[in-house]
Amino acid sequence: MNKDRLRQFGYMMNSAMAKLFYGRNGLDSLAWTCNMAALLLLVINIFAKSAVVYFIWIALFGYSLFRVYSRNIPKRYAENQKFLHVTEAPRKFLRLVPLQWRDRKVSRYYICRSCHQQIRVPRGKGRIEIRCPKCGERFIKKT
Ligand SMILES: [Zn+2]
Repeated sequence: MNKDRLRQFGYMMNSAMAKLFYGRNGLDSLAWTCNMAALLLLVINIFAKSAVVYFIWIALFGYSLFRVYSRNIPKRYAENQKFLHVTEAPRKFLRLVPLQWRDRKVSRYYICRSCHQQIRVPRGKGRIEIRCPKCGERFIKKT
């Protein structure tokens, strides 16, 4: 296939995708999370072979498809925002794990419990009072 044909093919694929998702909600965070959870269950069930896991997989996968192809965008948007709000703290915590590991010898990371700001403190200072630079909340942690 020469370059022009390839470009034409790419354009056709793009417009086909655009047509498919026109007026649809598309893949938002909630749909993506359900999809990933479903994929994880699928892998687990290779070993577990459980009917219950299979039904949860169908439910999650079905729900993620329902979200992607839904035409009620405002409602799906509101649900997604609610999902993002509810999962904000655990998502921030998960994002800290690789940082915590990378800097494990020099610093520690904490999440402010009132504003969820990420705070980095030097390691090995004993019990110290940490003041959140964003909201001023104070808390005591062992470093
Ligand atoms: Zn704070």
